[in-house]
Amino acid sequence: MGRPTRVLDTETIISLQPLSTKCLACGNTARVVYHTQRHVTTLQGHFCLSLIIRRCHQESCLRYHRPYRPEEEGQWTLPYGEYGLDVIALVGMLRYRHHHSLAELHQALRDRGMILGERTVLNLLARYEELASLHLSEKSHLQKIFANRTAAM
Ligand SMILES: [Zn+2]
Repeated sequence: MGRPTRVLDTETIISLQPLSTKCLACGNTARVVYHTQRHVTTLQGHFCLSLIIRRCHQESCLRYHRPYRPEEEGQWTLPYGEYGLDVIALVGMLRYRHHHSLAELHQALRDRGMILGERTVLNLLARYEELASLHLSEKSHLQKIFANRTAAM
């Protein structure tokens, strides 16, 4: 993780950049093309992710002009997400392990200092269900591959 810098009491700035200065496809230099920010709320507080975006400028490259974003960004939140993966995991755990209702989920997040509407909680629950579904479908896909390989041996 990048080094946190506290600017306001309510938001911590985290600077993130791609791990490499080279294009991962062709190995040529991937130049910095722009900086951007994302605001993410986690169970630890509010964070401003300050991101450096690179691009490959080699026209023959498969990743020509495609953004190369910091790898660590995905550890914080989903694409276009405003809440951390820890918040999504908490919502899913409270719903499916402790059988919380929507109102109870909403109150549990408010008790942790998060200010959000019930509709947002519902969206977070939907994100959790999508991730769980993806995990389970990937698991069965991996089991098929494993079964095919062991049958071939
Ligand atoms: Zn390239």
